[in-house]
Amino acid sequence: MTHLEPGTARHAAEIARVFDGRQPLRFLKHLPNDDAFHRGEQPGGAVISVVGMWDSMPPPLLDAVRARREASLTGRCPTCDAVCDVRTGAFWHENDCHAGDPMIERPMVAWARKVGRFARGRRLLEDEYRRSSDGRTAE
Ligand SMILES: [Zn+2]
Repeated sequence: MTHLEPGTARHAAEIARVFDGRQPLRFLKHLPNDDAFHRGEQPGGAVISVVGMWDSMPPPLLDAVRARREASLTGRCPTCDAVCDVRTGAFWHENDCHAGDPMIERPMVAWARKVGRFARGRRLLEDEYRRSSDGRTAE
């Protein structure tokens, strides 16, 4: 995604395009800490980066990361229904939402410290979790 100035109409349009569920969404590749997805037709569209998932993550953290990934890919939090503010790209989760920054950051840091860089275990794919958790398939 090209860098656009937050607060401009073009920036808001770009964010809205990222969440356009009518456009195809597909997994691109694993990055060191994140997973890259692509939304839209090619050439064109937008790359979306979401936090990666590993099987060594404690189940509560994994659930939070799943919710965070879904929010990042759809524009709506599956847990608290927060929607992305297209002017800023930010989510304002409910205070008790496990996908919000205050709830996810500490367990994430604790997990990363515990496993280090090379003992994270097996990488999990978005479509795997979608099949296993709710039976839906990736778009
Ligand atoms: Zn939320």
